[in-house]
Amino acid sequence: MSLYADLSRFGNIDADVALAGRTTLGVGGHAAMLFRPNDEKSLAQAIFMIPEDTYIFPIGRGSNLLIADSGIDGLVLDLSDLNTLEVSGNTLVAGAGARMSKIAQLAASAGLTGLEFMATVPGDLGGGVAMNAGAFGQQVSDVLQSVTLLSRDGKVQTLSRNDLDMRYRYTALPKDALILSASFALTEKNPEDVKQVMREMRAKRSETQPLALPNCGSVFKNPEGDFAARLIESVGLKGKQIGNANISDKHANFIVNQGGASCLDVLQLIRLAKAEVKKQTGIDLEPEVKLVGCSL
Ligand SMILES: Cc1cc2nc3c(=O)[nH]c(=O)nc-3n(C[C@H](O)[C@H](O)[C@H](O)COP(=O)(O)OP(=O)(O)OC[C@H]3O[C@@H](n4cnc5c(N)ncnc54)[C@H](O)[C@@H]3O)c2cc1C
Repeated sequence: MSLYADLSRFGNIDADVALAGRTTLGVGGHAAMLFRPNDEKSLAQAIFMIPEDTYIFPIGRGSNLLIADSGIDGLVLDLSDLNTLEVSGNTLVAGAGARMSKIAQLAASAGLTGLEFMATVPGDLGGGVAMNAGAFGQQVSDVLQSVTLLSRDGKVQTLSRNDLDMRYRYTALPKDALILSASFALTEKNPEDVKQVMREMRAKRSETQPLALPNCGSVFKNPEGDFAARLIESVGLKGKQIGNANISDKHANFIVNQGGASCLDVLQLIRLAKAEVKKQTGIDLEPEVKLVGCSL
């Protein structure tokens, strides 16, 4: 039986799938295959069918990705149907495909604090844990209790937060591990107060970020003690356009797609900002956006 027939027993499989529409930046070529398993059990069974030499790329909401115009020559794994959400006491457990905004909403309704920032970060639980997402002084690693992973050989293991090296926008996962779910240890707080904090965070976001145009959030990590946006602005690149992409004139650490931007347009802007900041300030900016199939 072919791989397509094998995998179709466990979910939805398509060939030659356009990826641009699956990223918030709206850039990227096609995936050779895209597989969306029905649930965790289906994925655990399907993983054995995928040949060892097939490259697997797990995708969440695609909100932190710059995918090459040539696409991904492998199997893109969409875990959006692994979206269970559960609260028990002060513990919240979410599946890899649960939207972070929904997780924040559930925590708030249950009167639990610690995940308010998730109301303002696009993306799913898997991407949030993989990136150690955070905002407004909170981040995943502050409240993460454990993460359940699936390895290429079908082994499921649960690692506690202390077993994971998590830093600013970085989580060291075992090689090729897929995040299935995660649990968070939260603290009780009045639900209305939690919701109010989320409303304030959202309002601040829309004031400062160019949310009307396709983008991938912060392009660079903030260097210790400074802000990438301030540095890019200081070297005169705010508003700079290449092809159909430009450095936002609202927030210089955002690159926006004006319509039909290519990966190369965005890459050239990233290279330019990195080189100019290095030349004029000596600071080496490190990308926060994940480059998939392309490099600086
Ligand atoms: C407007 C905007 C604002 C943003 N603001 C913030 C912010 O304030 N703070 C912040 O931290 N980020 C921010 N981001 C970036 C982005 O939202 C986060 O990095 C988010 O956590 C990415 O989640 P995702 O589901 O979109 O992951 P994707 O972008 O799809 O993937 C990101 C990485 O995670 C990996 N991954 C995804 N799922 C899994 C899985 N199940 N198992 C293993 N690996 C997996 C992918 O392979 C990839 O390497 C912003 C982005 C946008 C567009």
